[in-house]
Amino acid sequence: MTAPFTPTHIYIDQAVVNLPLTNKILGYFPNIVPQIVDDPKKFKEPAEMTWAKKGLMLARHKADTVLKSFDAVGESCGRPVYSLDIISNCHLECTYCILQSYLANNPMITIFTNIEEILEKLDHQIKDIPDNAIIGTGRIADSLALDPITNLSSHLVPFFAGLQKNVLLEFKTKSDSVENLLTLEHNQKTIVSFSLNPEEIQEREEFKTATIEERLKAAGRCAKAGYKIGFHLDPMIFHENWNKNYRRLVENIFETVSPEQIAWMSLGLLRFPARQQTIMKKRFPKNAAIHEGLEHTHLPYRTYSKNLREEMLTTVASFIKSRAPKVELYFCMESEMNLRSTTANPLSVAINQ
Ligand code: SF4
Repeated sequence: MTAPFTPTHIYIDQAVVNLPLTNKILGYFPNIVPQIVDDPKKFKEPAEMTWAKKGLMLARHKADTVLKSFDAVGESCGRPVYSLDIISNCHLECTYCILQSYLANNPMITIFTNIEEILEKLDHQIKDIPDNAIIGTGRIADSLALDPITNLSSHLVPFFAGLQKNVLLEFKTKSDSVENLLTLEHNQKTIVSFSLNPEEIQEREEFKTATIEERLKAAGRCAKAGYKIGFHLDPMIFHENWNKNYRRLVENIFETVSPEQIAWMSLGLLRFPARQQTIMKKRFPKNAAIHEGLEHTHLPYRTYSKNLREEMLTTVASFIKSRAPKVELYFCMESEMNLRSTTANPLSVAINQ
């Protein structure tokens, strides 16, 4: 089961005191006396990540634009992708999580509780984005891990369901927190996506998350409620039995959800900014195996060699395509890794088979 969030300290931006969502969240933590702050920006400072993930800031989203274009992923999946960031950072603990470096200067878990105002701005901004766009909430947070205390899904899913425009909302999660979704009117405008790895990797590297069995069970429940499901095998991690383990994972996916119920799948290899390796070694000293096979390259990332990336992507893509030839499959961020340069590239062949 996804570990519940148990903050040790809570701050409230003066601007959101008494908002309904602020009070709702505070109601889950009656034993913590929150501190009201005038300027949450003062708390946007570097802090030790494990400590920072135990703090909670309830704040006001002030920016006029609530959607940010997310071009790197958009390029990978061939559609415009935007990010709607209502939560920042995550209480789960994946050893490789890129937020450890990305949010190093602003790590406290922050929830923007002025949801009515956010939806008003979203309604305005959404008119200007292209049809067929995907709006994700999993860029700087897990989309659903905190839904049991925020219930943001009950605001977002009906909002997208009511849109005339052909724009999809995507939740992306390593949790099994789907209870709130099951009774919502979704009009198939929300995709519920699960990030998956073999069980061996989940147990070794994804602490506090739901197990793979639990995530798949949650995917099955959402499919039964009529949602289209996404699966992201990302980051794929090299380990001794990767071939056998990813094959079994793909089999388990299709035993749970039929190809017709799948909106899309993606594959991506382990990658993180080079500077993050030091943070990971310090925070997770026992997890040396995660660094196995990573190379120092000319790229600003630590990742695997081009040959190993190609081998893992083409192999796992072939497992998927043999079970579901028509499923929409893309390789996430591989163009950033200079891999998808020509149509003769074996990756292009694998993905189009
Ligand atoms: S679930 Fe996602 S956001 Fe949370 S720690 Fe893991 S990788 Fe990071």
